Amino acid sequence: MRCSRRGCHKTAVIYQPYSGLHLCEAHFTEYIERKVKKELRRQMVLKPGDRLVVALSGGKDSSALLYMLHKFFSVRRDLELLALAVDEGIRDFRHETLKNARAIAGDLGIELHIHSFSSEFGFTLDDIVSRGYEQAPCTFCGVLRRRVIERKARELNATTVITAHNLDDEVQTIMINYLRGDIERLKRLSANRIAEFVPRLKPLRTIPEKEVAIYAYLAGIPLITRHCPYARLSFRFTVKRMLNEFEKRHTGTKYSVLRGYERLMKLLPETHQQPRFTICERCGAASASRICKVCEILELMRRD
Ligand code: SF4
Repeated sequence: MRCSRRGCHKTAVIYQPYSGLHLCEAHFTEYIERKVKKELRRQMVLKPGDRLVVALSGGKDSSALLYMLHKFFSVRRDLELLALAVDEGIRDFRHETLKNARAIAGDLGIELHIHSFSSEFGFTLDDIVSRGYEQAPCTFCGVLRRRVIERKARELNATTVITAHNLDDEVQTIMINYLRGDIERLKRLSANRIAEFVPRLKPLRTIPEKEVAIYAYLAGIPLITRHCPYARLSFRFTVKRMLNEFEKRHTGTKYSVLRGYERLMKLLPETHQQPRFTICERCGAASASRICKVCEILELMRRD
């Protein structure tokens, strides 16, 4: 198939069922980068002196994001781009992606900071899982990783944390919160500026996971085929499969969920749009409840 762009006769590397376009390598890359830049502009205004910290796992999404941001911002001497990786302690998995994270950050000349659950909390995710709790490992992992990123971003004087959530991640999270009826978390998802936290950006949130993977491949970023061994145990995994099935049968479902969610959030009166936080009585961190989730996990691990 030939590229659909007018006057271009190159072979297409991708077909986008939702747009009906076939795109060659150059036009696909241009399309992705234009969309990411647009999303960046929509979400933030860069100021001289900004320190942007990219949450880097070493997987395809965060590696592609770091590569792209470096491409956009390396000419800006007034901005700093740093990378932050978290080692949760997942045997036969994380060391592989961290190797990748070191390689890509090293190639781009970006300072990489790696912190582990083990040094921050005194146990690994594998330790938690070995206790056989009812909750899925991702429940613990997400809470602890967010805390490490927030804490370390503050220590690095970050003005913004940039994460690599793609369209699939975003739509899964929306759907999970709909299914749980969790309105507070739904609100949190669209608020990239919450007073209690370092501002967060998600420039890939409108790019489908498959397209991020193709972009990464074309950019020469090594793709890791190994997946986290705990991913299949999560509710997210079930929702992911369901959404992929819908997308296969009804093209554009994922974009519809995202747009529908955005329209719904705009309908909320402004006073209801900001999520509510208090201060954790034990550690003093911002929390949605009296005792934060991190302290609950620490208590659980101390007790059992
Ligand atoms: Fe953590 Fe779940 Fe992601 Fe694995 S899949 S790294 S357990 S959040």
